[in-house]
Amino acid sequence: MGVEKYKDLLSSIGVDVPKHAKMMAAGLESYKKQFLSQPNRPKGMDYFDWFMSEIQGQRIAEINELRAQKKPAVGTFCIFVPEEIVVGAGGSCYGLCGGSPATIPDAESELPRNICPLIKSAHGFKLQRTCAYTQSSDFIYGETTCEAKKKTWEILNKHHPVHVMNIPHMKRDKDLKMWKEEIIDFKEHIESTIEKKLTLNEMKNGVKIVNDKREALQRLDRLRGMNPNVIPISGKDALFITQMGFLDDPVRYTQKLNELCDELEERVEKGISVFEKDTPRLMVLGTPFAPPNWKLHTAVETTGGAIINEESCIGHRYYKDNIDLEGVEDEDALMDKVVQRYSQVDCAVFTPNTPRIDKIVKMYKERQADGVIYYTLSFCHTYNVESHLVMEALEKEGIPCLVIESDYSAEDVGQIKTRVEAFLESLTFKKKAKAFKGIK
Ligand code: SF4
Ligand code: SF4
Repeated sequence: MGVEKYKDLLSSIGVDVPKHAKMMAAGLESYKKQFLSQPNRPKGMDYFDWFMSEIQGQRIAEINELRAQKKPAVGTFCIFVPEEIVVGAGGSCYGLCGGSPATIPDAESELPRNICPLIKSAHGFKLQRTCAYTQSSDFIYGETTCEAKKKTWEILNKHHPVHVMNIPHMKRDKDLKMWKEEIIDFKEHIESTIEKKLTLNEMKNGVKIVNDKREALQRLDRLRGMNPNVIPISGKDALFITQMGFLDDPVRYTQKLNELCDELEERVEKGISVFEKDTPRLMVLGTPFAPPNWKLHTAVETTGGAIINEESCIGHRYYKDNIDLEGVEDEDALMDKVVQRYSQVDCAVFTPNTPRIDKIVKMYKERQADGVIYYTLSFCHTYNVESHLVMEALEKEGIPCLVIESDYSAEDVGQIKTRVEAFLESLTFKKKAKAFKGIK
């Protein structure tokens, strides 16, 4: 296993090696139980299973090799950080660990108990020194999205360099103007790290690499969600693939994901599904699923449902838009396109955020889903409050919805399964009633 082989490297970047090894062993065991036990997985998952075994081993060595060549390593917690610029500089931009309950008690020595588990988990990883990505990063790029995050940066900065991007909470022209300045600041910060100016071509190259990655993810989304009679991959595997898109080398990842999609295309043609006929097709909406948060997917897919899409930041919100390079001849035009793309991210921290609601209804209809689960992490006020407006729109359209608020603990797993089971029963009943009446 990677961790053992890279012990010296991990120690040199300040990882608490014994604690880290213990955590990785538990993580791999949980992965084995939840993922490898699924029947009829596509062959292309072999790569992602391998990546999981090297997630804190070989991949960490690759990032540190780049750092030795003076390429930047930037850790993030939000999809507003323009990774294209870091990739254009030849460096790595990755999401940091923040999906485990194991680090939360340590985090609570500095943070209040009643804030979102994602923030506490991430903060705890730094205090414990058990995330090799955090330890490898030149700095963490934070943002001013939600209240809890933006105040946490001030505390996290005591332990690791943190730079903060000011993300506006509205999308008026004056807000977009300020946002562009923030993106230019980000680029300049990357330039100061590598001690050279980035050329237009380098940045365009970064955009192309990330566009390719997002396109491969869009392809996966279509293959798993748009065919009403065939679901060629489980929702849990698709979620894991998406999660790994925030950690892997983007060129290799895109190649492997496209290979997997070729296989899924074949499965769709041949009608090979990983779920039985008439399994209820669900979309999940809401807050991000940072690895190893697989709790909801496991609960749904071991209770008789299939998840066909995540309307989430580790999901559709991340890959739905590309940066359009058409007509970009200078840096200023490129920065305009970057802002244009990033301002389409429909995170609940914006007001108003109606495009998100319209998009959800459209996505549901396109995928011919049977129902949705609105999932929020506890104490995430923006998504929690916004659920009222989303539910109203769903009700108007007659779309069945189950709301689940949860954290990372295992305590509510039984309760979630019971609620999902009842929801699935009602969906199956509705489906049968519709079929009986001959309604499509
Ligand atoms: S939910 Fe909003 S703040 Fe959180 S990662 Fe997504 S875009 Fe960023
Ligand atoms: S899930 Fe909500 S509370 Fe947690 S970091 Fe994201 S926006 Fe903030």
